[in-house]
Amino acid sequence: MAHFIFNEEHEELRRTVRRFVEKEVAPFAQEWDERGDFPSAMFERMGELGFLGLHLPEEYGGQGGDLVSYIVMIEELVRSGSGGFPMGIAVQAGFVIPVLEKFGSEQQKRDYLMPSIAGKRIACLGITEPEAGSDVSNVKTTARLDGDEYVINGSKTFITNGLRADYVLLVAKTSPEKGYKGFSLFLVDKNLKGFEVGKKIEKVGMRCSDTVELFFDDCRAPASALLGKRDEGFTQIMWELNGERLVGAAGTIAGARHMIDLTLDYIKQRKVFGKPIASYQVWQHRMAAAAAKVEAAQNLVYTTLWRFLRGEYPVKEIAMCKVLCGQTCFEVADDCIQAFGGYGYTSEYAIGRMWRDARLHRIGGGSDEIMLEIIAKQMGL
Ligand SMILES: Cc1cc2nc3c(=O)[nH]c(=O)nc-3n(C[C@H](O)[C@H](O)[C@H](O)COP(=O)(O)OP(=O)(O)OC[C@H]3O[C@@H](n4cnc5c(N)ncnc54)[C@H](O)[C@@H]3O)c2cc1C
Repeated sequence: MAHFIFNEEHEELRRTVRRFVEKEVAPFAQEWDERGDFPSAMFERMGELGFLGLHLPEEYGGQGGDLVSYIVMIEELVRSGSGGFPMGIAVQAGFVIPVLEKFGSEQQKRDYLMPSIAGKRIACLGITEPEAGSDVSNVKTTARLDGDEYVINGSKTFITNGLRADYVLLVAKTSPEKGYKGFSLFLVDKNLKGFEVGKKIEKVGMRCSDTVELFFDDCRAPASALLGKRDEGFTQIMWELNGERLVGAAGTIAGARHMIDLTLDYIKQRKVFGKPIASYQVWQHRMAAAAAKVEAAQNLVYTTLWRFLRGEYPVKEIAMCKVLCGQTCFEVADDCIQAFGGYGYTSEYAIGRMWRDARLHRIGGGSDEIMLEIIAKQMGL
């Protein structure tokens, strides 16, 4: 039986997304990983199917659903066995689009939100810098108002979708002397003079998602590029980041569940010393323990989500979800690849790729240590 946060409409959506994943994503996961890219046309395909705006209002081309619908989609996308594809989609549908909907002007909604929901414009999110990863307060990129333009200088790194994106949702300092209170958000078009895209960063996992550096050298953006209120960018982006951490945790733990499913199938048929691997108690217990950990972490995510949907803002529990799901997923991935033996370490089976992809969850979007810092602070430490 599905968890109580899901209703029949969600389950119907789940079946639809699952069919799409089985037909149009999973068969290509290995090829995309080897190529280090997935087709940009997948954004438009996802837009066509309504998947990029599931939880966005219909007036902007969304489906008018709730956050749970979006979670259903992410849970199903990770079952493709590709980590990089859902990550690229999540940056667009989970980070940038909701910020545009919440803080964008009507003009920005027409120019950016609607074409992004349709998958016709691709977005990336620029927060991290070479000296500002965990420590976001150290962002050095500045945007100085000069007449009716902002002059942007600085650089960003590790930017997902950065190579193919049409624009970036950029975090820059507009009042450097005000610390956290001096950040603003901007929508910066890739074709502006002074905006350069660096070379693709080669990664251990999530290989089909493009990751780049971005450079701004006296890049002049119109004053209308400001998104939301000047100097309130930090609050605006943190609001979004917390919601996305929760969704990310749901995707991470759904990935762990999928790895268990794949492993159970494998160990039931692969024989060692004349018996299926699954007949050995050590593997029965290992899989049982993995399933128990996944169940516990997933229930924390659903309960936290249920509170979030009721207007609570449970920062501590969201951080708990992120750290617990990231760690559980990687532990489960490690148990699963072990069960596949040497075959798990080859590209013949998806489990090796999933094991590589799983490692990022403990680093990206706020590392384990940063999540534990948040939890400790909330505990009064
Ligand atoms: C594949 C990939 C995709 C990404 N996509 C994006 C994107 O689209 N947009 C974007 O803006 N960013 C993106 N990032 C950046 C990502 O969010 C950062 O890598 C992450 O926040 C960590 O920052 P850092 O890499 O600078 O590590 P650092 O901040 O240098 O941290 C290094 C280590 O020190 C630890 N540490 C830091 N502070 C403390 C502390 N106070 N106490 C104890 N330990 C500490 C960290 O936990 C970590 O283990 C991406 C990263 C990767 C790898």
